[in-house]
Amino acid sequence: MKHNFGAGPCILPQEVFQEASQAVIDFNNTGLSILEISHRSKEFEEVVKETEQLVKELLNVPMGYSILFLQGGASQQFAMVPLNLLPENGKAAYLDTGVWATKAAKEAKKIGQVEIVASSGDQNYSYIPKNYQIPSDASYFHFTSNNTIYGTEVFEKPQTSVPTVVDMSSDILSRSIDVSQYDLIYAGAQKNMGPAGVTLVIIKDDLFHKSGRTLPSIFDYEAHAKAGSMYNTPPVFSIFVSMLNLRWLKAKGGVEAIEQENIIKARILYDEIDRNPFFKGTAAVEDRSRMNVTFVMDTPELEAEFLALAKERNLVGIKGHRSVGGFRASIYNALTISSINALVDTMREFEENHQ
Ligand SMILES: *Cc1c(COP(=O)(O)O)cnc(C)c1O
Repeated sequence: MKHNFGAGPCILPQEVFQEASQAVIDFNNTGLSILEISHRSKEFEEVVKETEQLVKELLNVPMGYSILFLQGGASQQFAMVPLNLLPENGKAAYLDTGVWATKAAKEAKKIGQVEIVASSGDQNYSYIPKNYQIPSDASYFHFTSNNTIYGTEVFEKPQTSVPTVVDMSSDILSRSIDVSQYDLIYAGAQKNMGPAGVTLVIIKDDLFHKSGRTLPSIFDYEAHAKAGSMYNTPPVFSIFVSMLNLRWLKAKGGVEAIEQENIIKARILYDEIDRNPFFKGTAAVEDRSRMNVTFVMDTPELEAEFLALAKERNLVGIKGHRSVGGFRASIYNALTISSINALVDTMREFEENHQ
């Protein structure tokens, strides 16, 4: 058995893989594969409806929001957000906490005026900036709740009166959030919700056409909302597998239950990083992510040796992103405590080998 610590696409529950593989052969006893059914069929309409209902239920989405399943990943949202929310003469405020946040701001700049309210780029994004001002005349404020590459996470929504947009690609459904505090939430599915190919958008309906721009329909949130995420052929299989994964999460007790598990998993791993003299964490302690745990070695020359041992112990995907180096263990919802223990045991084994 492999322990998959990959950052995305990443681990999903084994049960989900089993059920998905069955549906590829015969979907719900229809005699057809999920890969060949019409997206307009009654069967698939039910899949979309249930997926939407599960998102609503698991995240307690209040009235007045639309739940959309789009394509183009979080990266398409970097463009769709300003196209829909930023008027010609408006200004958008962005918090710069890493590569994804920078990219989001860069795309918005192609569409309108952008103000970076704070950046942690001075220390390679190893912390979350605090005590910055968000201009009250901004059309919206954008931030990234979990910085997948740097292993930092924003646990408290920044206070502001302007509409707030958040990229939750890598921590959606990992902890409870108050959706009513946000105006638009987006997440590429491939980190905690499902396979690659579908993007979740939760948008407050009064945001439609806020920019006043004439948009191609494919980039217009309202067009997708009106069509029930069927403006064009949706990513049928990705939505279906997301539904299976959301069912799994619900059966486990939902977001509140998985949050408790995620807290324990992160604690076990950070405790070992802090205890083991060979390793050290890279993120500011108070901003440490519960989803992506980044760490390096005091002696970088030993890193290749640890990676080799990890490979022998069936630990997959722990090489750090090139902009941080060292290691990154992505410990999303589906990663079990026994996989965390396998990594911790390997770190101890490495320590013993070098006594
Ligand atoms: C992975 C990731 C992205 C990029 O997502 P795509 O679906 O590949 O466009 C954006 N933001 C965050 C926080 C991510 O983790």
